[in-house]
Amino acid sequence: MKPAPFKYIAASSLDHALSLKAEYGDEARFLAGGQSLIPAMNFRLARPSVLIDINGLKDLAGVDQTSGGGVRVGALTRYRDLERDGRFLASCPLFADALPHIAHPQIRNRGTIGGNLSHADPASEIPALAVAMEGRMRLKSSAGGREVAASEFFQGLLTTDLGVDEMLVEIAFPAPKPRTGTCFMEVARRRGDFALAGVAAIVTLDGEGRCAKARLALCGVGETPVDASKALSSLIGQPCTDGAIETAAAGVQEMIAPSGNVHGTADYQRHIAGVLTQRALAAAHQRAGHGA
Ligand SMILES: Cc1cc2nc3c(=O)[nH]c(=O)nc-3n(C[C@H](O)[C@H](O)[C@H](O)COP(=O)(O)OP(=O)(O)OC[C@H]3O[C@@H](n4cnc5c(N)ncnc54)[C@H](O)[C@@H]3O)c2cc1C
Repeated sequence: MKPAPFKYIAASSLDHALSLKAEYGDEARFLAGGQSLIPAMNFRLARPSVLIDINGLKDLAGVDQTSGGGVRVGALTRYRDLERDGRFLASCPLFADALPHIAHPQIRNRGTIGGNLSHADPASEIPALAVAMEGRMRLKSSAGGREVAASEFFQGLLTTDLGVDEMLVEIAFPAPKPRTGTCFMEVARRRGDFALAGVAAIVTLDGEGRCAKARLALCGVGETPVDASKALSSLIGQPCTDGAIETAAAGVQEMIAPSGNVHGTADYQRHIAGVLTQRALAAAHQRAGHGA
């Protein structure tokens, strides 16, 4: 199909893009990689009357290491550039696990982290990573800027905290603590499909090898990424034995409410979420022990 008619404007600067969004409001959409927006327009599921192309705003792309050891990723940074950035993958190893699961190389060549997070598909990997890693989103409008925790950014199915005149300009990830290991795993029907369930796990050990902190976020099992870290409270202060991990995974299965879809029932999604939680926690624990 072909999209409904629209006006195309290539933004010449961030201020230009933001003033256009303030002017056209809900009628306008930013065009980043176009990998979600253009198919939606072709199916006429989205009918913006104005497209504000932000691809020329090179300052919005790229990764910066912060002085405290954290990382800031510009909204227009493409998956491909993250996949090839060894320093970024070393500081954010969950991305090394997760990026190859996103779609196919052609889509990763164009898709951007900002477009992904703004689109807020609940089955997408990166929103779950952002929640697990306690990322912070930087939003801007012509009126000013603000920061929102990833845990508060995702508000519902394909819905975020972004105001009608705002753009997501950057996401910041804090420095990982010493003795931290991470792991992302998912099950999808075919390579490159959206996840039926996916799990991002982060385990930090204390000096005695007990679990000091554990974070877990899931994709594909709710209307937003699901922060299931509370279900891991029984692990804190304990050695991460197989039994302790099994108990924590049972808690995660209890707290999620997957809806099921044409590819799998809700029970099946709950089952694989439990299995993936056990495996991802065990792998993150092992990697924490090896300083990976
Ligand atoms: C066949 C196929 C398979 C896919 N499989 C997966 C998958 O397995 N996992 C996955 O995560 N994704 C998958 N995707 C989606 C892909 O990751 C998209 O690239 C991503 O969701 C959107 O990023 P984009 O840069 O292309 O954004 P666009 O499509 O350009 O924009 C998406 C939405 O975000 C808005 N937007 C874009 N940038 C900003 C910004 N900076 N601030 C505010 N709003 C903004 C746009 O206005 C639009 O509403 C798949 C896509 C296809 C076509």
